Amino acid sequence: MRIAFFDAKPYDKVWFDTYAAEYGYTIKYIESKLGPETTPLAKGSDAVCVFVNDTVNRAVIDDLAALGVRAILLRCAGFNNVDFEAAFRKIHVMRVPAYSPYAVAEYASALLLSVNRKTHRAYSRTRDYNFNINGLSGFDLHGKTAGIVGTGKIGRIMIDILTGYGMEVIAYDPFPAPNTGIAYVSLDELWARSDVISLHCPLSSETKHIVNATSLDRMKDEVILINTSRGGLVDTAALIDAVKARKVGGVGLDVYEEEDAYFFEDRSNDILEDEALVRLMSFPNVLVTSHQAFFTREAMQAIARTTLENLKRLENDEYLLNEICYQCEDKGSCDREKRRVNCF
Ligand code: NAD
Repeated sequence: MRIAFFDAKPYDKVWFDTYAAEYGYTIKYIESKLGPETTPLAKGSDAVCVFVNDTVNRAVIDDLAALGVRAILLRCAGFNNVDFEAAFRKIHVMRVPAYSPYAVAEYASALLLSVNRKTHRAYSRTRDYNFNINGLSGFDLHGKTAGIVGTGKIGRIMIDILTGYGMEVIAYDPFPAPNTGIAYVSLDELWARSDVISLHCPLSSETKHIVNATSLDRMKDEVILINTSRGGLVDTAALIDAVKARKVGGVGLDVYEEEDAYFFEDRSNDILEDEALVRLMSFPNVLVTSHQAFFTREAMQAIARTTLENLKRLENDEYLLNEICYQCEDKGSCDREKRRVNCF
């Protein structure tokens, strides 16, 4: 099988090359993102491999199908960039639903520790031989309350980590995990009681801007907010207002609403035009990183292994475990997992 691998970065090649050799697959690495102009580069390939910011719309899918491409391999869990209706019955779409929830939860905790104890600022100071600690004070996490929004794979590991710090942890999830001993509360109570809030729910029409002017207003003064999930969970303009009003004590963001144009790229020679992103990064108590919470050796290994295994299943005409289509998105009406059949 031949794979056209779009938006390729040097770190992608490490594990994909290792495992592709085992599977006997050939990978053509392409630095550009997949989009209408770059689709012809997939000529001669059985599959394309794409990431979170590639364009997989109807025009691209139709062109890929005309080139004989049989699979779109998402090397990520999220799939909001794919037009599933366009792909249905033309090209199988497969993803990596889970790779390392530890990677993301551990990173969320790292962001919390940095924002609270200002290690990111201390690093810049001591690099410049400035050993002054004015303004770098934080607070003990021990004995404080953390609110976790979304208690899936990552949220539950975050709960364990924060419990280890001696925090009281409360959580909100419309589908509470049974028999876990998690202290579930309403979302309003979570906003009101938490000293630290960490978001671990998916982005959907229900969760878009779950952190907004109203919810920020309900939060404790000087709350620390951590978002490693999806940028769209937070209304950026409202967050900026809350930071300016000194309502929020600290923010750690690994994701940002309009990240597509910037994250994963070196834009250090450009004039940034995204005023909100620049404003966010201007605050001393806001730490922004470039969607790297997943980025561990173990996660990269698992992503490469699962992506190639997904293609192997198609090659062998087997049940496509990680296939997804527009019918699967609406879990209530799709029973393909139970019947172990493919989307088409
Ligand atoms: P998961 O599916 O295991 O858990 C998500 C949880 O959110 C579920 O328990 C679900 O019931 C809950 N949920 C759904 N709607 C909700 C709502 N309205 N309010 C509160 N909770 C709600 O997912 P996961 O593996 O734990 O991943 C969580 C999120 O982390 C993903 O959706 C993804 O956006 C993000 N993520 C980020 C990175 C990164 O590198 N920054 C990497 C992987 C995943």
